[in-house]
Amino acid sequence: MHAKQFEKEYMGTKKYIERYKEHNIYSYTICAEGIEVAISNLGAAIESIRVTSPDGGKKDVCLAFDRPSKRVASGTYSGATVGRVANRIAGARFELNNKIYRLSANDGANTLHGGKEGFDSQVFRCVRHEKNYLKLSLVSPDGDQGFPGTMHFFASFLAEKKSLTIKFSAISDQDTLFAPTIHPYFCFGDTLRTELKISADHFTPIDEQGIPTGETVSVFETPFDFTSFKEIGAEIDSPHAQILAAHGYDHNFVLNGSPAAQIRYGSEMMSVETDFPGLQFYSGNFFEKNELCPFTKRQGFALEPQFFPNAANQRNFASPFLKAGERKSYFIKFAFNYLS
Ligand code: BGC
Repeated sequence: MHAKQFEKEYMGTKKYIERYKEHNIYSYTICAEGIEVAISNLGAAIESIRVTSPDGGKKDVCLAFDRPSKRVASGTYSGATVGRVANRIAGARFELNNKIYRLSANDGANTLHGGKEGFDSQVFRCVRHEKNYLKLSLVSPDGDQGFPGTMHFFASFLAEKKSLTIKFSAISDQDTLFAPTIHPYFCFGDTLRTELKISADHFTPIDEQGIPTGETVSVFETPFDFTSFKEIGAEIDSPHAQILAAHGYDHNFVLNGSPAAQIRYGSEMMSVETDFPGLQFYSGNFFEKNELCPFTKRQGFALEPQFFPNAANQRNFASPFLKAGERKSYFIKFAFNYLS
């Protein structure tokens, strides 16, 4: 077979998009039966997930920006890999080995999604790109956003029949924190009419800054009960104090089963599997369409498998720490299907 032809048939595609801080930004495509995913090296970000329906049509189930740099500027984290630590760290500080580390504060006095220049705005290196697989890497230097240790971080994306599996792994030369996630906003149509099921009997209530109080509370007889399929909009405007605190859902659920979550929209289905202990369900409450953000309030929603928010300071939550020299990895799988 001619080399060019071989490349076309067996390689994923790579398209130049823009220049960002002296780097070339590309969109890498990977595909498998019924699924095509575009990923950018700016923030190891999912740009689109196109799923093939039984009638052969293709639908992007994610909210999208036309340029990765616009997504960075929007502060929505849309599709991005979030690290070193997803979600909030109270007071932008934590203690480890009797030392207090001060972090970059970018959400009032707190750290959100890894700090001002988290992984979402870093340019990754492509390690391997095949038709259905992409592996990106990043070296986060000692002291990056205040975190200790030089961290070698890898994000890989594997497309298989109607599914996408993301794997994060890291190794550091000092004890540190490692608790990433991926942040696509899903949109199957009308988000408020989209049905959601979460394998969680408990959630972690938050204070007025969106930080868990440290308790775990039963979801039963609250708007947080997604133990069977329920429309996202059913109780999103409830007067429940926790709903008022976040203007909707922006909470961590304590996972106790697999799949972690499921979505149903007409005949369209999605399931989320993971080995992270928690799932942040964020219903896009803070979207406000303007020159930086093309999305309207609650146009999409995020299901982010992760460690519990502020676990670095809540020792009763599962530990997000990584020991020097230890390699840890976590996975998140989004699988799509159709009801017949
Ligand atoms: C957080 C929200 C935040 C959003 C965008 C979500 O993961 O839970 O509180 O507004 O990301 O930063």
